[in-house]
Amino acid sequence: MDISNSKSLFANAQNFIPGGVNSPVRAFKAVGGDPLFIKKADGAYLYDEDDNRYIELINSWGPMILGHNHPVIKEAVIKAMESGTSFGAPTAKEIEIAALITKMVPSVEKVRMVNSGTEATMSAVRLARGFTGRDKFIKFEGNYHGHGDSFLIAAGSGAITMGAPNSPGVTIGTAKDTLLALYNDLESVEQLIEANKAEVAAIILEPVPGNMGLVLPEEGFLQGLRKLCDEEGIVLIFDEVMTGFRLAKGGAQEVFGVTPDLTTMGKIIGGGMPVGAYGGKKEIMDFVSPVGPVYQAGTLSGNPIAMAAGLAMLQYLDQEPGVYNQLESIGNKLVGGVKQSLSKLGLNYSMNHLGSMYSLFFSEEKIIDFETAKTSDTALFGKYFQAMLKRGVYLPPSQFESLFLSTSLKEEHIEYIIQANEESLKEIL
Ligand code: PMP
Repeated sequence: MDISNSKSLFANAQNFIPGGVNSPVRAFKAVGGDPLFIKKADGAYLYDEDDNRYIELINSWGPMILGHNHPVIKEAVIKAMESGTSFGAPTAKEIEIAALITKMVPSVEKVRMVNSGTEATMSAVRLARGFTGRDKFIKFEGNYHGHGDSFLIAAGSGAITMGAPNSPGVTIGTAKDTLLALYNDLESVEQLIEANKAEVAAIILEPVPGNMGLVLPEEGFLQGLRKLCDEEGIVLIFDEVMTGFRLAKGGAQEVFGVTPDLTTMGKIIGGGMPVGAYGGKKEIMDFVSPVGPVYQAGTLSGNPIAMAAGLAMLQYLDQEPGVYNQLESIGNKLVGGVKQSLSKLGLNYSMNHLGSMYSLFFSEEKIIDFETAKTSDTALFGKYFQAMLKRGVYLPPSQFESLFLSTSLKEEHIEYIIQANEESLKEIL
């Protein structure tokens, strides 16, 4: 496969951009080789600067749930562009998207739009602190909530693959208010609450973590957190930046029937434009400025182009019958095929799967948390990644990420991926 244009672009990019990329995991450090520079994307495919074509299993890290360049989103963006790119003033579309979000995610009674998942989680924790008058919060090892200072402590995603979960530049003063619990371990949460009685403002978690590879909550874990929060006056925040509008209309909270106080959202709600949001109970959200004392603002927040893309996406997901069944069926077929190949090859690698998200771990352990995720053979994953790429399948370039499927995957794509997976495993083992 010729990737000479990507190679020379990457060499040049490094002169002007740190590491040649605007987000670390894109540099392929965890899997070796040069990153591909992408020229365009359409449906289930990405095209690089050397005109190689790849089947997409990242989908912009989640947002492109309908595949790339979907006509509904494209038309909404083009139409919005005709009326200007930013006003810095309220628009009717903002009410429409906020109302739709509250309908699709019933725990969200009011919502504030921001520009990224990072902004959403930073703002949600500030709000929980302002609301409760407490300083500390609990997060879980291997969960990623963006790059806000107080979250860069045992964080997942690129923060694991870059080998720097505790980033320089995060002060001890900041870090001391972030309490670390173990995912799927209620006792670790109880101990922290006990040791910091009446000081914990919030518990924030990915209800279904995708940033240490995909991990599922064990029976009773989310319910247990809800109960603890109720007993202790702690704000429960579900970070549904990945899972929101993907696992179901109402996200992981709908799938598991557990209602958080606040929810953070991103990715899909922007239809591929830079958008995040946080929302939840009215009484908490009304603590946000200008109605309440907790300050949070944004020059480009509620941007008209981003709102048009996001609204078109959410309307489609809300109204198109069978879209979640379709995602489910694509996930089941693909994961079923990969599992069949594993057993045919006599491999006991662990797989976690829910709907249109899954991870194949190069480990034989059941992956339930950060500790078990770290038992994966990341060097072998790197070889697997390259073997798949050579066959035209674009996977997340790290063991510690989930795959994201889109409705644009048809039968022929699924069959091709299953076959490529089997050949790749044979090649690397
Ligand atoms: N929360 C979760 C669960 C995420 O997966 C991410 C990004 N992958 C973020 C927050 C941060 O979002 P962003 O990259 O848009 O800042």
